[in-house]
Amino acid sequence: MIAENIKRLREEIQNTCMASGRNPDEIKLVAVSKYFGIKAITEAGNNGITDFGENKAQELRDKYKILGNKVTWHFIGTLQKNKVKYVVNAAALIHSVDSQQLVDEINKQAIKLGKVQDILLEVKTSSEETKGGIIGEEKIFQLAEYCTVLANVNLIGLMTMAPFTDDKTAIRKSFKELRNLKDNLNKQGYKLTGLSMGMTSDYKIAIEEGSTIIRIGTAIFGPRDYSKDWREL
Ligand SMILES: *Cc1c(COP(=O)(O)O)cnc(C)c1O
Repeated sequence: MIAENIKRLREEIQNTCMASGRNPDEIKLVAVSKYFGIKAITEAGNNGITDFGENKAQELRDKYKILGNKVTWHFIGTLQKNKVKYVVNAAALIHSVDSQQLVDEINKQAIKLGKVQDILLEVKTSSEETKGGIIGEEKIFQLAEYCTVLANVNLIGLMTMAPFTDDKTAIRKSFKELRNLKDNLNKQGYKLTGLSMGMTSDYKIAIEEGSTIIRIGTAIFGPRDYSKDWREL
């Protein structure tokens, strides 16, 4: 099933790119493997998926212990300071950075590991309480500037989650806002390339609005069973 899902998804990405004048090579597909086990990840890997996204620090740590750098890991979830070390050890890209405190801790752990950690700033582009991210252009500019002084943190772009709704206009508005922010930062001299936006339900709109990284779980792995531990799968 995973193989067919990936094939179908790739076709749809291709079609969406064609229709919106984009080159499919510009879009990185991150398979969101949270709640899924090593078997599913391996199957996706055998079908050409190279990048996997996790939203819990310990789950990433433990999967990293098993698979290491055979795949490229992304961290996409809420991050607590005391768990940053696990994430910096495993992730090529952290999508969900939304405070100066977090940037400091990432820099600190990256220094310890002798790495430069690529990050994205998560921006809150919807009014949903449950969603994280920085609010307001001024705050985003401040944090972006702060990143430039830290040697072991490399800001490469922005990430957002659109509101959970059927209202396509509202979803598109979120994605446009993120893209505008990136453009405004680049006008100030930044060279941001990454726009992490789009999930199973809204990735087509995200691609139309300039996404360069889509984070897809359900369309690849099927629905998540929150009652099970990934180790049992
Ligand atoms: C779970 C998750 C996804 C993937 O969601 P799907 O709807 O299953 O594609 C993408 N981004 C983040 C931040 C997530 O937590």
